[in-house]
Amino acid sequence: MAVIVQKYGGTSVGTVERIEHVADKVLATRAQGNQVIVVVSAMSGETNRLLGLATEIMGPAPHGPELDVLLSTGEQVTIALLTMALKKRGCKAVSRTGWQLEIKTDQASNKARIESINTDLIQDDLATDAVIVVAGFQGIDQDGSITTLGRGGSDTTAVAIAAAIAAQECQIYTDVDGVYTTDPRVEPDARRLEHITFEEMLEMASLGSKVLQIRAVEFAGKYKVPLRVLSTFEDGPGTLITTEENQMEQAKIAGIAFNRDEAQLTVKGVPDQPGIAAKILGPISRANIEIDMIVQNVAWDNTANFTFTVHRNDYQRALDILQTTSDKLGANTVSGDDNIVKLSIVGVGMRSHAGIASQMFEALADEGINIRMISTSEIKISVVVDEKYLELGVRCLHDVFGLSGNNADNK
Ligand code: ADP
Ligand code: ASP
Ligand code: MG
Repeated sequence: MAVIVQKYGGTSVGTVERIEHVADKVLATRAQGNQVIVVVSAMSGETNRLLGLATEIMGPAPHGPELDVLLSTGEQVTIALLTMALKKRGCKAVSRTGWQLEIKTDQASNKARIESINTDLIQDDLATDAVIVVAGFQGIDQDGSITTLGRGGSDTTAVAIAAAIAAQECQIYTDVDGVYTTDPRVEPDARRLEHITFEEMLEMASLGSKVLQIRAVEFAGKYKVPLRVLSTFEDGPGTLITTEENQMEQAKIAGIAFNRDEAQLTVKGVPDQPGIAAKILGPISRANIEIDMIVQNVAWDNTANFTFTVHRNDYQRALDILQTTSDKLGANTVSGDDNIVKLSIVGVGMRSHAGIASQMFEALADEGINIRMISTSEIKISVVVDEKYLELGVRCLHDVFGLSGNNADNK
């Protein structure tokens, strides 16, 4: 019998009625002759509520092992309720936490990575013909402490289980009916993609499209897990994440991602000599602050200007560190801006089409949008612009690359 892994996100299990609806969907999948493993998130708003409680005690950006213990309770509520709903329908079901299934992770509190899963335990449950209802987003480290996988981590739990038992398909049920050309909340003309490659999905997720957690896509690509994003509330084919070879025709651009979580820092007038980048960025990295884009240029007087971006949560800390470094280096000025966003276009078709960058830059220029930074890779181009241009920028790029719903030639 085929095993299907289904994951239901927060909104899909946001009320008791919705949990009952999920139970019906699980039964329908079983009725088609499949065994089902269901991974669930916390009910919508619950993880944020718990974070709020922790913030009241720890202050902004709570962290550490107790946060894992706290946040993991959200998913435990949902597995209990869904299992009750399944049993009420006469369906055999068991609820399982991360530690019960021995979902082993590393020790990185609040952003742990799954290292292994005890598939014997899953197979034992499947042998009893029960639906296994698994708490997403949580695991256990080598010391037996509860860990959590970072926001959106239930996606990764589902894909990791699907990979571990070689499930027939991993279905991610959510509040949209697939992966869209861009977030439909920002561009109402966005269109559902029939399929998108793992590579493109990985870029989209990394560049801010939170419809799938980055690690879930990484896992699915690495272990070749057939992965589909679908709606909990409407029937439909959703979006299949595929390997490139399966794609018949390449659109130039698959989608547009954006990220509101960045902030930009600049130091001007540093001496232009070997080792300067390491001197500026070293202290930032040592403070565990991740750096995203970096631009360095040399001015007419042989001093260098250095600009980079970090997560907005790390902005103030990074600014303080940069100020100290700049004093040591004798630089002129340190400045920063946390009202910026990153817009990116993503597509494997870029490899075989020239002129995409200039098309992007012209479109932004036509709207009077100033580009502050640019970075490119083989299948993406990102620009940093003022936050006020987010919607306008996304919509004009969506239009210029022909991604809208009524545009047939990109299908
Ligand atoms: P869940 O709680 O089910 O995990 P999420 O909120 O994590 O749901 O992800 C679904 C949301 O992702 C959608 O409501 C949508 O606003 C957002 N999103 C961002 N980019 C995209 C995209 N390219 N396609 C579809 N949804 C997107
Ligand atoms: N409940 C967690 C979160 O909100 C995990 C998830 O929903 O995937 O991020
Ligand atoms: Mg999610």
